Amino acid sequence: MTFQLTPEQQAIVDYPLAPLRVAAGAGTGKTTTIVLRLKALIAADIEPESALGITFTNKAAGELADRLRVELPDLTADGREVQVSTYHGFAYEVLREFGALVGVERDTAVIGPAHQKQLIEDGLGVVHFDHLDLTYPRGIIDKTFTLAGQVGDNLLATSDVRVAAPAAGGRDDVWDTRLELLSLVDSYVLAKTSIGVVDYGDLVGRAHQLVTEHPAIAERIRARYRIVLLDEYQDTDPAQRELLRAVFGGGFPVTAVGDSDQTIYEWRGASRLNFDGFVHHFPNPDGTNAATLPLTLNRRSDRAILDLANLIRERLHGDAPFDSLDPGPGARSGQIETGWLGTRGEEAAWIAARIEEAHDDGSRWDEIAVLVRKNKDIPAIREALLSAGIPTEVVSVGGLLEIPEIAELVAWLQILDDPSTSTSLARILLGSAFRMGLGDLAPLAAWVRERNHQGDASPSLIEAIDHVEQISGCSPEAMQRLEDFRARYSRLLVEAQSVPVPDLCRSVLAAMHAWTEVDAMNDHAAVSTRLNLYRFLDLVESWKPVVGRATLESFLQYLRLLSDESAPQELDTVAISRGPAVAILTIHRAKGLEWDTVVIPSVVDGGFPSRSRSYASPIDKAEYLPYSLRLDAESLPDLSGAQKASDRNAILRKYHEAEEWRTAYVAVTRARHQLIVTGSHRTPERKTPRIPSPLFTMAEKIAGTSVVIDDPGPIEEPQWEPPGSAPDPLFTESSWDEVLREATKDPEWLNAHPKHKPAATARASQMRLELESLPQPAVAEQSVARATSVTGLVTLARCPLQFRWAFVDRLPRRPSPALRRGVQFHRSVELHNVGKVPLADLDEIAYDLPGDGSSEPAASGADPYEVFLESRFADQKARFAEVPIDLGFGSVRVRGRIDAVYEPEPGRWEIVDYKSGRPSDDPALDVQLETYAIAAVDGAVAEPIPDQLSVTFAFFGGGEYAERSVDVNDAWLDAARDRIESLSLRFERDEFEPTPSAACRRCDFISFCETGRSFLDG
Ligand code: SF4
Repeated sequence: MTFQLTPEQQAIVDYPLAPLRVAAGAGTGKTTTIVLRLKALIAADIEPESALGITFTNKAAGELADRLRVELPDLTADGREVQVSTYHGFAYEVLREFGALVGVERDTAVIGPAHQKQLIEDGLGVVHFDHLDLTYPRGIIDKTFTLAGQVGDNLLATSDVRVAAPAAGGRDDVWDTRLELLSLVDSYVLAKTSIGVVDYGDLVGRAHQLVTEHPAIAERIRARYRIVLLDEYQDTDPAQRELLRAVFGGGFPVTAVGDSDQTIYEWRGASRLNFDGFVHHFPNPDGTNAATLPLTLNRRSDRAILDLANLIRERLHGDAPFDSLDPGPGARSGQIETGWLGTRGEEAAWIAARIEEAHDDGSRWDEIAVLVRKNKDIPAIREALLSAGIPTEVVSVGGLLEIPEIAELVAWLQILDDPSTSTSLARILLGSAFRMGLGDLAPLAAWVRERNHQGDASPSLIEAIDHVEQISGCSPEAMQRLEDFRARYSRLLVEAQSVPVPDLCRSVLAAMHAWTEVDAMNDHAAVSTRLNLYRFLDLVESWKPVVGRATLESFLQYLRLLSDESAPQELDTVAISRGPAVAILTIHRAKGLEWDTVVIPSVVDGGFPSRSRSYASPIDKAEYLPYSLRLDAESLPDLSGAQKASDRNAILRKYHEAEEWRTAYVAVTRARHQLIVTGSHRTPERKTPRIPSPLFTMAEKIAGTSVVIDDPGPIEEPQWEPPGSAPDPLFTESSWDEVLREATKDPEWLNAHPKHKPAATARASQMRLELESLPQPAVAEQSVARATSVTGLVTLARCPLQFRWAFVDRLPRRPSPALRRGVQFHRSVELHNVGKVPLADLDEIAYDLPGDGSSEPAASGADPYEVFLESRFADQKARFAEVPIDLGFGSVRVRGRIDAVYEPEPGRWEIVDYKSGRPSDDPALDVQLETYAIAAVDGAVAEPIPDQLSVTFAFFGGGEYAERSVDVNDAWLDAARDRIESLSLRFERDEFEPTPSAACRRCDFISFCETGRSFLDG
């Protein structure tokens, strides 16, 4: 250590073995002080192994361990080390050693937020809702995630929350909704148990349960140590605090280091009460409060920056006393600049110019960072920096997904997974690789429209590309590009079926000629693009699904969850590469880091410090726990006197504002020498001009240079708008989702937009009917880990390997015009029978359409629906139509949908499955009728069950009606049950042997299935 310890540091290093709180301001060398305290204790005869350091992230734990190795080289040489862990790591180790006592096995995997949401999403189908808004499943997932986190962070079980609920009749809608959310939390807990995983909250909760139920274990852990150092203690949540108290409370020498002004993670459970209340949570052995020692000498930042930091703290503390940050002996005057520009584009360009100047003045690119409050600010800044030839590295994942190269790569993955995602396809064709214009796509869109009018089954844009030779109006150049696209797509589709996701990403990049393009870029752009692509590939490599195989579909689902603002905390371990590039990241990810020059953009009123329209009021929002149930209740604002939601919002806004100012304090103190704060009059998302935020004004007061440009008046800044999705073939209102969303949020919205009213009202009633027809799940069924559709079962009967690839691995499949025609036929028949069609996407599962011979295209002029209208069913009224079924066979659930049940006389049922193709005698298809018959006799269709039953395939393809029917008797039923049970067993045991047959000809996977190919060749 080359510098002299300050008296403050010396006091901490020398403090005796007793509980101690260290209030360490930003940049005051707290890690150094911790390391020196440990070094001094070891020199005074404490065994290194009996010292435990706990910090927040893996990265911080690694850095602390490295520092200790450097400071204690002799011990390291002897193979002896101080123990260093993260807070979660400590809980994990406790469970690894003793977890069996609370039912946690040693090899239990831990899942992060993206995976948690995935499991919650899986549970949506098994809970019945009356109060939650099912039109917005993502909202339900987020709320369940929040409530599950709150329950865990406060060491509660869902039953504890239920007990606190008012009795039925006295409950408001918030409590009713909360109870429904609790059912989803239960389902999520069950899902974790059934696949043997825990989340981070469970780690702490279970470890706490363990040490409180078994005090001898707490004693045993405690006896291993003589000193514990808790770093970044202000970021811990109440459950972590209670775990540490249960083991190390009551006078044990715990040193907690932190800064309550840097508590910026309250939104993810951190509690300021932990740091503020440390002195009595961890009292001296005699019961008196623990001591507090300050660290105030900042060795990082220059004077001007510290002046601003102290102004922010003044605002935070009001009249209460606080220790202001003092500049270190080497501090210079420092530089603060503010820029208030005309438009956001001008602001970004100004930032680029200032960064260039800083670089010209000697700053390395990697010593400069742009810290944004929200991910959405990243693209404009990045673009301006790149245009100015400045290399950039986007460190926030949410921002990474928005940069063009990654967005295009993800678009490719999306169309490989689901060819009907026209938005992604359009992004690719209009993007840099193919450079097509909307005009080039117009003939394809016209072809799609025309096929719709002809009653063909809603072909997708990709099918139009497949038929591009038959489409007139495409220019030769456009034709060539579409053919080029088609060739690349076909090649990638084959790969997508056979290679892991990381390899597929590399193949897509090769097909995009991404690396060649990178090589052709100027140096700075090449560095930026390469760093961002590497970061994305790192993300793909490190991804593992919580459950099941690593499929493209589950990876895309994971990406969708990551793009959420709250997700980046999962990626604490992703470090900045420190390549020669300017880092762009959110302030929350920048904690613990520092740069010579820091830019904070978009410091506009309401933007930063940010303001929401509503806050986490447990009185108004079901996903938040009532304060009385929280472990940090005493530190929360008093809402009891606020009668109206707006009053509560006002109280919470003030409370939230403090966290925003703490975030500002963190942002400002990342800078060593230069801080640039910017904003602009005009932003694309607002028509009215913006004004500087109080933070901007504060910075402006200290700034050496302030640039102010006049308001240019209303502007139209170009913004990327993704093309809309293709219209629903039956409902021409293409923006139905938005209409419904708006109408749900605001009951008056439809009155203000009458042109949307008829379509929205019709569709809303259709949705209600659909929801009402859903079967009520039985609670016991929630633990079932495996499920398939009747279509899946038929495929399993035909060829287990095909089933595995199609339904377990979910390999991408080719778009099938025949299946689409089948779906269209079923929609027409359903419209005929019921007068409505389902909201479900057009897919074969929605109508139990196994890809079989019967789905072959019908001969020309033989419209199956016309044949239907001539058949015996045209004038018969079905007793039930489109009946959802859900059956259990062993631990496998089979779900499906029966086309129609006729009852020609009381007690005699005929179950009919309509087929749009020609007659087929494929024996695998029989599984479909067998499943339907079992559903009927088991009461899964309706009660009472029929006295007599027949099951029928009705074929309407080929121009002539034909049928295959069976009268069901006990022997037939027994054989059917045996067959389906043995198929389920095969699924349970992962027995997926190939079974080649004539069906291999139509198999999606024939291009790489060796068994199928040799069968066909032979
Ligand atoms: S090609 Fe034949 S054997 Fe191979 S998976 Fe397909 S159906 Fe099964």
